[in-house]
Amino acid sequence: MAGEPQADCLFCKIVDGKIPATIVRESETTVAFRDINPQAPTHVLVIPKAHYPDAASLAAAEPAIAADVLREAGQIAADEGIADHGYRIVFNTGAGAGQTVWHAHAHVLGGRGLQWPPG
Ligand code: C5P
Repeated sequence: MAGEPQADCLFCKIVDGKIPATIVRESETTVAFRDINPQAPTHVLVIPKAHYPDAASLAAAEPAIAADVLREAGQIAADEGIADHGYRIVFNTGAGAGQTVWHAHAHVLGGRGLQWPPG
């Protein structure tokens, strides 16, 4: 069922504490942890606790939780001290855009110069 934990989902396992992660923030609806393969000095992933395969399907089904993800991303940027210099919130969506984990997640990236357009 939409939103229910998926047995084969890596990020559902992080939510459940079955796979370790360096958690930086947690809310009623979200968990944020440091990316295991950081692409910038700050690289944190914010995920909804509920399982949706990507950001668009999360927003369609649970717009309030999608807003929670964005609010948490902004708070992390403030806490990490990257907000003043600019940072990026990225939702890779689809394999062609580099999505590899099929549980919605926001990448929060900052602490270095960020190019536009992204690769
Ligand atoms: O957007 P994409 O689906 O590629 O992002 C998945 C991210 O999850 C990657 O940046 C990867 O490094 C990260 N990851 C992680 N911890 C894991 C497995 C993947 O932080 N155990």
